Amino acid sequence: MIARAMADPTLAQRLLDGDPRALARAITLVENDRPEGWELVKEVYPHSGKAAIVGFTGPPGVGKSTLIGALTKARREAGRTVGVLSIDPSSPFTHGALLGDRIRLGEHFLDKGVFIRSMASRGALGGLAEAALQTALLLDAAGRQDVFVETVGVGQAEIDIVDHADTVVLVLMPGSGDSVQALKAGVMEIPDVIVINKADHPLTDTMVREIRGVLSLANLDRSPEQVRGRWSVPIVKTEAARGDGVGELVERLDEHRAHILAAGQLQERRRRNLRNEVMAIATARMRRELEQELSGDSELQRLLDEVVQRRLDPASAATLLLERRSA
Ligand code: GDP
Repeated sequence: MIARAMADPTLAQRLLDGDPRALARAITLVENDRPEGWELVKEVYPHSGKAAIVGFTGPPGVGKSTLIGALTKARREAGRTVGVLSIDPSSPFTHGALLGDRIRLGEHFLDKGVFIRSMASRGALGGLAEAALQTALLLDAAGRQDVFVETVGVGQAEIDIVDHADTVVLVLMPGSGDSVQALKAGVMEIPDVIVINKADHPLTDTMVREIRGVLSLANLDRSPEQVRGRWSVPIVKTEAARGDGVGELVERLDEHRAHILAAGQLQERRRRNLRNEVMAIATARMRRELEQELSGDSELQRLLDEVVQRRLDPASAATLLLERRSA
């Protein structure tokens, strides 16, 4: 596998030409943390930055996959190419489609204009978030115009991949009271667009009112200058399974993109996100170096003994280790 990838100087070119098989192979290399994967990213990176990346988050079962399926259909009808990245940190599987994608995105499987990939937990450099970020980048470089990133669950550290999207969509359904509480408490960041799916439910409008309340509370913390010219978070009601409201969601997504482009926020956002990414990779590498350096280190064992016997506190032990390292 390694030899084949290395002996394939055309892989980057084929990826840039949009070849789905080259894309699939490239993602596997990155996912497996292979050096050729990183080389490839290096090569194609200058060609990325064009895709509109939309991240979807929300509790399981609210209809994210169904919604992405419907959006994919709408984007394809408009002649755009789509990449879908589905991330499930809780799944023990590392490869292949998750059951949900197979069923709900199934109708797009034969369409070359739609590329679907699932990812689950992984322990390599930077972890799942890092692999997901690199994958989004590859989809972008391969010319996918719309990239949808879906994560299962909310509030887990692994899913901050969604923060790297240009537009963040929170998907809820009537009865997702926990998420509304999390928004209210400031545990969850205010997204760019909120979708209430399964809007045929009788409690839909109650939920919309509750969320409006939370959003206006969030605005109270801001000065009038901050509020003026700001993006006001739309709440879109959908019935993804029937495609209802999907047209409106497409419009809101386009408006949000136009807004951040006009306000210069896209560049700002991307700069912030790329900074986080550089820091995350650097941190992961430093940690790995440190762990390698200290594995089997007798000084560490001695310090640990002292910590265990309560003669030395953990912070002082860390200071001693680092001091010795920089000496
Ligand atoms: P995810 O876990 O958030 O990705 O949710 P799924 O897309 O897997 O959807 C969960 C279930 O809700 C599936 O059985 C869908 O068919 C169903 N579902 C999706 N959208 C709607 C909707 O608008 N109305 C109703 N009643 N069911 C829906």
